[in-house]
Amino acid sequence: MIAAAGSGQRLGAGGPKAFVDVAGRPLLEWSVRALRAAGSIGGVIVAVPEGFEGQLGEGVTAVTGGPSRAESVRLAMAAVDTELVVVHDAARPLLTAALVDRVVGRLSGSGAAGVIAAAPVADTLKLAGEGERIAETVDRRGLWAAQTPQAFRCDALRAAQGEAAAAGYLDQATDEAWLIERSGGEVLLEAPEQPNLKVTTAADVSVAAALLAAG
Ligand code: C5P
Repeated sequence: MIAAAGSGQRLGAGGPKAFVDVAGRPLLEWSVRALRAAGSIGGVIVAVPEGFEGQLGEGVTAVTGGPSRAESVRLAMAAVDTELVVVHDAARPLLTAALVDRVVGRLSGSGAAGVIAAAPVADTLKLAGEGERIAETVDRRGLWAAQTPQAFRCDALRAAQGEAAAAGYLDQATDEAWLIERSGGEVLLEAPEQPNLKVTTAADVSVAAALLAAG
């Protein structure tokens, strides 16, 4: 499943980010191709902004997204009829089939509720106080930056989403792993071997385009 229903306001391209051209294809298309090439994937469902349901290619199921990323993913879960699901952000176009198969394979062979792509934090981290003054340097040991793809057992994800919606914190979730964590489930970290950058700004589009064009 691909979350692609964002408005793209931060990118400022005048339309949804998922449909912005990156190296000759809509941003979203790169992730669709990687998922289709993955042996562990049976079908692709995409949450799109309202009005964009007809803009997807053949063989991809479109679902109208919601007001938040977490809500878009929850809505798209209604179209999932498998035991496991992979949730991926359209904003990460460098996705590879190998990474998808790796997170799914690790989940299958474990008793965990989920496995997510994530990278150990390499930067020195500062907590900002008022006026962008450094309040504190945060110890980065043991800190990982969460990415997508994120693979889950569907029953665990649905239960965690339901709990979050009932308790009113679903919209605060910036990834599904957090929902599982809150419901007491175990989620494992898997470091990608290749760059898996997130496209947020126009500068990120240029970097992603260069990497994708280089193959
Ligand atoms: O805003 P951000 O880049 O963090 O969004 C991550 C992903 O979630 C994007 O691929 C975006 O299209 C998607 N999203 C969504 N529904 C929303 C907001 C964001 O599917 N309401």
